[in-house]
Amino acid sequence: MTRPTVARIDFDALVHNLAVARRHAGTARVLAVGKADAYGHGLARVWPAWKGAAGIAVLELEAAVRLREQGFGGRVVLLEGFFEAGEIEIIDRFDLVPVLHDQRQIAMLSGCRPRRPLPVLLKLNSGMNRLGFRPAAFRVVLEQLAADARIGEITLMTHFAGADDGRGVDDQLALFRTVTASSGLPVTLANSAALLRRPDTCGDWVRPGIMLFGGSPFADTNAAALGLLPVMTLQSRIIGEQMLAAGEAVGYGAAFVADRPMRVGVVACGYADGYPRHAPTGTPVLVNGVRTRTLGRVSMDLLGVDLGSVAGAGVGSEVVLWGRGLPVDDVAVAAGTIGYELLCALAPRVRVEVCGGAPDIDDPMR
Ligand SMILES: *Cc1c(COP(=O)(O)O)cnc(C)c1O
Repeated sequence: MTRPTVARIDFDALVHNLAVARRHAGTARVLAVGKADAYGHGLARVWPAWKGAAGIAVLELEAAVRLREQGFGGRVVLLEGFFEAGEIEIIDRFDLVPVLHDQRQIAMLSGCRPRRPLPVLLKLNSGMNRLGFRPAAFRVVLEQLAADARIGEITLMTHFAGADDGRGVDDQLALFRTVTASSGLPVTLANSAALLRRPDTCGDWVRPGIMLFGGSPFADTNAAALGLLPVMTLQSRIIGEQMLAAGEAVGYGAAFVADRPMRVGVVACGYADGYPRHAPTGTPVLVNGVRTRTLGRVSMDLLGVDLGSVAGAGVGSEVVLWGRGLPVDDVAVAAGTIGYELLCALAPRVRVEVCGGAPDIDDPMR
């Protein structure tokens, strides 16, 4: 028997979540964000659910080229643009759209001879202070690009630092509007959080990521309340069982000690599968569909669960670590992180099965 640890990808949930995004987007086009190998889900198996999206955004040139080779005909955006001048020729050949965020990229462009005017996204740093030009430089570069016959359509872009929390988007949005006023160019601003809560940020293109995978971008609202369905269900089985006497401990470091006789299930899943090692005793987990808790320290290949409340559970019982019936965000909160990180961290050794929709596509990258 193969190891029972498996990530099931629900193709129909992907399609559903994209439809939710489109509904919120109104007339804006959807640029589905598929960086980090589609947030750990495998871009090659995910993108067929996004055929209805106008575009897909990734980071790596290789991922973008593969989308083209596999037949995606929409817009393909490189969220960090190019890293060296040699990449521009490939961007041109495969009809990709780079984000320009730094003066060095503008310098690299000076020597290029694209086949056709190169469409670009020009990024304003409106306050997040990661990537992008500050307003004064942005204006100069925009003028320069607009006058350059080798440059095609210019889409103006910024990224919000607080769309998911109390800080909101007002300050950044106001600055973006001031800097880009009267340009008449298409704009893209909204991530999932802004798309869901601030229709006034939708612009011409929206950039949802986490919501397409059924995760909530908000700490105070769960994915179900947003009408989203979980896409990845990480599941396994109990492969060992122990009866603990009071005073006996579970796992490395004796991090959990039983205060009474207890039944412990040992699950074939650990941090080498992508389950967070920092998840403490009490992190929620489903055994035979019943919510219970982890016990002790998560080890590389195994973790312990409390079987006290789960009648009939034992070796062979099905365990859901997150996904259907147990939001990844609940596990993330218990482990002191966010659902994004858990999904992205799914380890290559975990078998992946696609259910519903299209047949499984073998992705050599996973
Ligand atoms: C990752 C990313 C997104 C998507 O963010 P979510 O919170 O996952 O919706 C959008 N825009 C940019 C520039 C990003 O890097």
